[in-house]
Amino acid sequence: MKETGVFYSEAMRNDQAPSDMNIGKGFDGIVREGLFEEQEIRLFEAKPVTEDLVLRVHSRDWVQHVRREGMWELSVCSAGAVVMAFDKVLAGEIHNALALVGIGGHHAGRDYAYGGCYVNHEAIAVAWARENGRGTRFAIVDTDTHHGDGTRGLFSGDEDVLHICYCGYGKGEGSTKVCLPHASSDDEFVRRFRNEVPPLIRGFKPELVLWFCGLDTHRDSYGTRRLTSDCYPRLCEVLKETAEDVPLVRLVVRVGCNAPSHVAADALPKIVKVLAGRPWR
Ligand SMILES: [Zn+2]
Ligand SMILES: [Zn+2]
Repeated sequence: MKETGVFYSEAMRNDQAPSDMNIGKGFDGIVREGLFEEQEIRLFEAKPVTEDLVLRVHSRDWVQHVRREGMWELSVCSAGAVVMAFDKVLAGEIHNALALVGIGGHHAGRDYAYGGCYVNHEAIAVAWARENGRGTRFAIVDTDTHHGDGTRGLFSGDEDVLHICYCGYGKGEGSTKVCLPHASSDDEFVRRFRNEVPPLIRGFKPELVLWFCGLDTHRDSYGTRRLTSDCYPRLCEVLKETAEDVPLVRLVVRVGCNAPSHVAADALPKIVKVLAGRPWR
């Protein structure tokens, strides 16, 4: 049986989050739909990553800064959700995964971060996988409304990481670092995404595709995009089909709550249904 894993910890629930942005409410949406009662959908408790692992990506000074800011536990637990998803998926224990994170990550570089980010979950997961002999080549597809500058910088010059970013204004680098313009409606974005992303992934042949799904593209969020909650499962369908079409490619979806909680509560169960091969509409 093909199983879908959901990685989450109550340590990431933040009832005091600004603007009612709370990944815990997104998790509640999945529970409410009874999806964990389905045989092929498994819940995993996300455990924090170690400081040693974080130091593969960030400087010691930066780690101390994150600790002083009081953001360490939330950051390492969020990174842990992504690392554990990589682990189970690359080991073939589960077919695909949704990693829920309580804080941002793609604006975090080696010794800086901004925009509510502290450590780079994507780079930490790739470092973990490589060190543990689980994979070499990774594709990161970033559909947040902002440029994934931290991730782009950390993988600059790394030809084994394909970084596709839908920010519209960042600079590309060779054939493996691409920034593409966003779209202003669900239909237009899904059509563009379907034309642009699968050929890049097929050509690159990664071992794993990590979708960095930013909910700040939702019309109710602070971003400038006008997407609805239904756009996310539609994008997920494209990536799932693509991953299943290329031999030995795995899919991990990473979602944080950078939109009002009702968006996460609506979108997350639909993403889980797509990953598990169930109807979502
Ligand atoms: Zn953003
Ligand atoms: Zn970009």
